[in-house]
Amino acid sequence: MTALIERLNDRDLFKTHSFINGQWVDGDTAFAVTSPGDRSHLADVYDVGASGARQAIDAAEKAFQHWKKTSVFERARIVQRWHDLIVAHADDLGTLITAEMGKPFGEAKGEVVYGAGFVSWSAEEAKRLYGETISTPFPGTRGWTVHQPVGVVACITPWNFPSAMITRKCGPALAAGCSVVVKPAPETPLSALALAELAKRAGFPDGVFNVICGDAAAIGGEMTGSDAVRMVGFTGSTAVGKLLMRQAADGVKRVSLELGGNAPFIVMDDADLDAAADGVIASKFRAAGQTCVSANRIIAQAGIADALIERIAARMEKLKVGSGFEGGVQVGPLIHDEAVARVDTLVQDAKGKGAKVLVGGSPLADELGGSFYAPTLIESGEDFGLDIANSEIFGPVASVYRADSEDEIIRLANDTPYGLAAYVYTRDVGRVHRLSEGLDFGMVGVNAPMVGSPATPFGGVKESGIGREGGKWGVEEFTELKFVLLGGVNA
Ligand code: NAP
Repeated sequence: MTALIERLNDRDLFKTHSFINGQWVDGDTAFAVTSPGDRSHLADVYDVGASGARQAIDAAEKAFQHWKKTSVFERARIVQRWHDLIVAHADDLGTLITAEMGKPFGEAKGEVVYGAGFVSWSAEEAKRLYGETISTPFPGTRGWTVHQPVGVVACITPWNFPSAMITRKCGPALAAGCSVVVKPAPETPLSALALAELAKRAGFPDGVFNVICGDAAAIGGEMTGSDAVRMVGFTGSTAVGKLLMRQAADGVKRVSLELGGNAPFIVMDDADLDAAADGVIASKFRAAGQTCVSANRIIAQAGIADALIERIAARMEKLKVGSGFEGGVQVGPLIHDEAVARVDTLVQDAKGKGAKVLVGGSPLADELGGSFYAPTLIESGEDFGLDIANSEIFGPVASVYRADSEDEIIRLANDTPYGLAAYVYTRDVGRVHRLSEGLDFGMVGVNAPMVGSPATPFGGVKESGIGREGGKWGVEEFTELKFVLLGGVNA
């Protein structure tokens, strides 16, 4: 690959230092960032470790004291400027995502704009954090509520949406008056550091927005152990979410957890099968299947299963796999070779237990020179006990199951510890209500393969998380509701 920095229009967006208290800070060691598309070395990024985390938290604590008192209109102006800069640099930010994460460039740029939407929405919404006046039972008193910022927020983010998972947390947190310390995934620090450069240009006071890179356990330990940090916002796996929740419990910190999923994609016998097959492709192959809301179990009502499989297979045969920088590519690489090996283990296990591999079914690493896996279609029959049905696949593998009655479909769909997104395709209005109410998931797409937007609540139930990002709920998440009782009014 051409040196990454040479691909950027604005080379100052390429950073390898952490951003602490408005300064670019190095560390004693560094870690390598590698492109999954061609295994090229992109950068060595400094590890600032526990001491960097302490510095950033101290800076954020000091900055919070004045940021929280800034008028929300002034805060919103700066937050909006950050949005405008992100959108103005969407090409470069997309390039960084494609290089370090692998998704096709058009999709990467789409992520940047989608993520920026949360920043802009929050700049507006924070102005509407209204309190209420409350009639009190005590003579001569008045009562009211105010929303106040939680305080210093630690944000820990994954590699699959290197930009949007940061903006979806930081936009609302900053607009609400919190200061933040972000720890991005080590696979994708360059996107996070570019966002920090744009935050600097937007004019956030020093210490309000910090990005630190390095050892997760050391940084996470400082974040959850510090009295100054009042909230941990985490997006990532359920296993790490549980660990952080346990660590945060000692300080009774607020947690917002956006964790893993195991989305059922249900197609009923009255559905528009072409729309359903299009939906499967959109849900399953975005980010090469590496999204928390990706269709994990495609459950087809038995009468239409063959017709649906035929339609999905026909669409999959046309998918173009390759480097995210190549024109027309729809499916990029997985994040690294371990991810390819993990996905292949799931596929081979299903095959060994009798599932039929109809399309693909093997790595493409040798042919394409990166961490690629062939788009794969598996017919798993009625075997909901397969590992592939019970793990987050996180790869371009569509696994189709058959089931009969509506009640049985609801039972099977809910038979998972996860509860993030579910999808239902049907044209029967009664079914729309019965299924959307019966599914134990935080979000249900009916005849729609995507559910996230800046205006709407995003989040899961059960082991998929706690809290909501997006909409007015996403901003409220970063505030405490305070009650004030005023006495002596009639004195
Ligand atoms: P992950 O392994 O849980 O890592 C997420 C982040 O947590 C990374 O920055 C990681 O850094 C950090 N981390 C790991 N151990 C830590 C510790 N002890 N203390 C502090 N930080 C720690 O998840 P991932 O593989 O990056 O992302 C994939 C997962 O994210 C999937 O399960 C997916 O469903 C989920 N996800 C959920 C949503 C949602 O909105 N619900 C959105 C996107 C992704 P290191 O890598 O350095 O350990």
